[in-house]
Amino acid sequence: MSEETARICVPVCEKDVSALRHACERASEWADIIELRLDCLSETPDNLSQLLNDLARPVILTYRPSEQGGHRDLSREARIAFWKHASRGESVWWDVEADLVHDRSLDWSRIIISHHDFSGVPGDLDQVYERLAQTPARVVKIAVQAKDAVDCLPVFQLINRARNEGREVIAIGMGNAGVATRILGPSRGAFLTYGSLDDDSATAPGQVNAQKLRTLYHIDKINNETMICGLVGLPVMHSVSPQIHNAAFVSTGINGVYLPFEVTDLSAFFRRMVHPRTRELNWNLRGLSVTAPHKQSVMNCLDWIDPLAKEIGAVNTVVVEKDRLLGYNSDAAGLVEPLLRRFGSLANKKVAIIGAGGAARAAIWALQKENASVTLFARNLAKADTLAQLFNVPSQSLSSASFNGYDFVINTTPLGSGEHIDQSPATQEQLNGARCVYDLIYNPRETRLLREARASGCETLGGLDMLVAQANIQFELWTGTNIRQDEQDFAGLT
Ligand code: NAP
Repeated sequence: MSEETARICVPVCEKDVSALRHACERASEWADIIELRLDCLSETPDNLSQLLNDLARPVILTYRPSEQGGHRDLSREARIAFWKHASRGESVWWDVEADLVHDRSLDWSRIIISHHDFSGVPGDLDQVYERLAQTPARVVKIAVQAKDAVDCLPVFQLINRARNEGREVIAIGMGNAGVATRILGPSRGAFLTYGSLDDDSATAPGQVNAQKLRTLYHIDKINNETMICGLVGLPVMHSVSPQIHNAAFVSTGINGVYLPFEVTDLSAFFRRMVHPRTRELNWNLRGLSVTAPHKQSVMNCLDWIDPLAKEIGAVNTVVVEKDRLLGYNSDAAGLVEPLLRRFGSLANKKVAIIGAGGAARAAIWALQKENASVTLFARNLAKADTLAQLFNVPSQSLSSASFNGYDFVINTTPLGSGEHIDQSPATQEQLNGARCVYDLIYNPRETRLLREARASGCETLGGLDMLVAQANIQFELWTGTNIRQDEQDFAGLT
């Protein structure tokens, strides 16, 4: 393997050699290099040379003790003994933990020396790096636990430092908040990135499926010029926005990538990683989608807000324009677009909106602009009243609601997804006599509310229509390119 092709390493963790062999065959499809997690085997085989000879890819051997994230209780002596007799060769690398660094009897020329911190980003990260970089190991690997997307910053800075010092480095922010380091790391100079064999076989927190690294994020094509866009929220990993926007980059031929940023401290993320005047990272960040819970608080982080977004009271789209941050709302237009497409004018239509959060705000605003007649339904009447008064619409309690006679019933609550997957904000009886039920939930596509609606004879509309419609608007704001993807392009997604 030449270092130029060491891009994606797929770890395989199996209990016996025949399963390991099978997993390696599958991994070869996406991997440039395969990591054999020998600590996962119930018994370490005496001789791996036959397996290594049969592999179509170079390998990294790893024998990690449980206290450093491995799967086996291993004494220091057992580990040293293991490495003394481990297979060697041109295409065999060893991942050896930093606590074995004093054992000079090891052959360091193919060694990746590794340090893992599952508790966070250590304050002395630079010193950790310096200690490892002083060893004769060929590659320095440091994996730290990212708890917030801003924790990616020291990881990127470490990769930059190592590159400037001519040192091979693998630096990773583990956890969902660190995913950006896994996707962008190689393009910044990291020796490789790890990708899991399947969605559920990650060997470290936050590891992205290797197939997705290649076919969704196209990491082989990312370089320093690549336009970076992403989704800011908490949580974000469930979102299908990466599928929508990355498909748009591919179909328009624009050199761009869209990735998730799991952000807790929004102002720190914007100050240190986003705002061109204060950020500590040199990257071609062009735009962000913003989702719950940050659609309102993000307004404090911007230099200019579109008057329409100000009226709605929420921003879901940020554009980085030279040294300024601009805020827009694409939810409102995205929400009415599928209704207009299917039903034509919404003027004088009777619309029930369920929920009184951010999406409800955008819905009321957009429907009023279309001259529809809106009533708000919510479980918390005090909250509903406040929002209703703001837009001068009536409000009612959800529990006693009847939607008979409404043209559209729009669900803006999370009921039907995630932990509420089996719930519905309205029963079949409540929906009797309504014309169309529009559920903003897009994952799953078929919600309990939509089933109840069909049972009571209503037409239905799912949230993917809106998601794609508002994503088209965002994509145009970032790239200037008008793209007309629709929900049919993503029918198999959720
Ligand atoms: P949000 O600001 O948190 O508002 C959620 C609303 O739902 C609140 O009014 C909340 O009531 C209500 N709610 C929560 N649990 C409820 C329950 N058990 N029973 C009754 N009401 C309940 O969230 P959001 O940003 O508006 O988003 C809401 C949903 O819309 C999310 O599922 C999101 O994925 C979806 N959405 C989809 C799209 C799309 O493109 N398809 C775009 C935007 C949003 P309380 O105030 O009483 O807590």
